[in-house]
Amino acid sequence: MKPCDVAVVGAGMVGAALALALAREGFEVAVIEPRAPKPWNAQDEIDLRVVALAPSSVELFTRLNVWHEIAAARASAYRRMRVWDALAPGKLDFDAADEGRAALGWIVENRLIQWMLWQALQRDARITLHCPATVVATEATAERRTLTLDDGSIIHAKLTVAADGADSALRAMSGIITHDRDYGQRAIVAHVATQRAHESTAWQRFLPGATIAFLPLADGRSSIVWSVPEAESVRVLALDDDAFCAELGTALDFRLGRVIATTPRASFPLRLKLAQRYLAPRFALIGDAAHAVHPLAGQGVNLGLRDVEELRNVLVEARDAKRDFAVESVLRRYERRRRSDNTLSAQAFDAIQRVFGSDAMPVAALRGAGLSVVDKIGPLKLAFARHAAGRA
Ligand SMILES: Cc1cc2nc3c(=O)[nH]c(=O)nc-3n(C[C@H](O)[C@H](O)[C@H](O)COP(=O)(O)OP(=O)(O)OC[C@H]3O[C@@H](n4cnc5c(N)ncnc54)[C@H](O)[C@@H]3O)c2cc1C
Repeated sequence: MKPCDVAVVGAGMVGAALALALAREGFEVAVIEPRAPKPWNAQDEIDLRVVALAPSSVELFTRLNVWHEIAAARASAYRRMRVWDALAPGKLDFDAADEGRAALGWIVENRLIQWMLWQALQRDARITLHCPATVVATEATAERRTLTLDDGSIIHAKLTVAADGADSALRAMSGIITHDRDYGQRAIVAHVATQRAHESTAWQRFLPGATIAFLPLADGRSSIVWSVPEAESVRVLALDDDAFCAELGTALDFRLGRVIATTPRASFPLRLKLAQRYLAPRFALIGDAAHAVHPLAGQGVNLGLRDVEELRNVLVEARDAKRDFAVESVLRRYERRRRSDNTLSAQAFDAIQRVFGSDAMPVAALRGAGLSVVDKIGPLKLAFARHAAGRA
């Protein structure tokens, strides 16, 4: 088979965005993915998995020519964010208007993003899709990396990028270990109807040992993410719908009135997983394969899409300077920049989770003061908002 420039393993939101970004820059790209996304239809019920996309992610999707289609299909802008605490009086408010922006971010279904990216991959002549396929073996020489797929085909690529998610098989095959922490929590998700309108606002309340977020959906409902300890999740998942709605209303302190209807629920285990290195010979990690973080700040895919921007920039710069773009000295720049940002972000979410995950009184006093202090100090608050917008 003709060698390609870059093989991207995994066509989730991050891998598909990288493949497109590189193809648009003239690289020949092979994409290996075991499962094509299911076609998205406007008549479909809003999928339970949604993400809050930061403006930086939307800017990337706009440059890749997929944002217009996503926004036209179904995306919900949120203009405000209200964060407060059940144990202390502190609060944190963000307004897009304070930042001179139309929106703080957009709530979009994962499946819709994946479907639009997948169609763009199929249309791009510089991209060869291998699907359904997985990598069964990989080997690097000085010049390239060879991937053997389960259908028997062989791919030779100057660079292989693993974007195959938090449980990355390629990361394991490359001998890269991760620093892991099990939060002992599950995120319960559902879409709910509330008595009061969501006002295009993302609502988040810290509870003793738990966090509840209501994210505004385009149809007037809210998508909830309720992170609770494992044992509590078993109880909450077993509640009937009426009891679940009643507990949700209480958890948000009735800020949107009573919760009056819910979809079926799903839940996800919450873990921190940070790769100790992002590189191996002719190999790099990106997205959740490099860093899976707690969803309380809604930043997982936004960090991954920032990896895409950085890796693309580093590869293009080296190629334009007529250098081998897949050698360690080039890739090291990507790793240095992204690993520090991702690790700092993960540690910040981790610290928030530790402080707000505790119901001990001295910590509770500290946590309330923390939110109030941040809200009162303009530059600090702006720094928080900038970070959330992906421009820190
Ligand atoms: C409850 C919850 C809420 C969240 N909310 C937000 C939010 O609001 N904002 C946000 O930014 N992030 C959020 N996240 C995180 C976000 O969902 C992830 O960061 C994001 O999905 C990671 O994208 P990815 O493309 O790196 O990996 P994945 O989405 O895991 O995609 C991996 C891809 O690789 C493929 N694959 C798997 N194994 C193989 C293999 N062996 N070979 C080849 N391909 C393979 C998969 O089929 C898939 O297509 C949330 C996460 C959870 C659990």
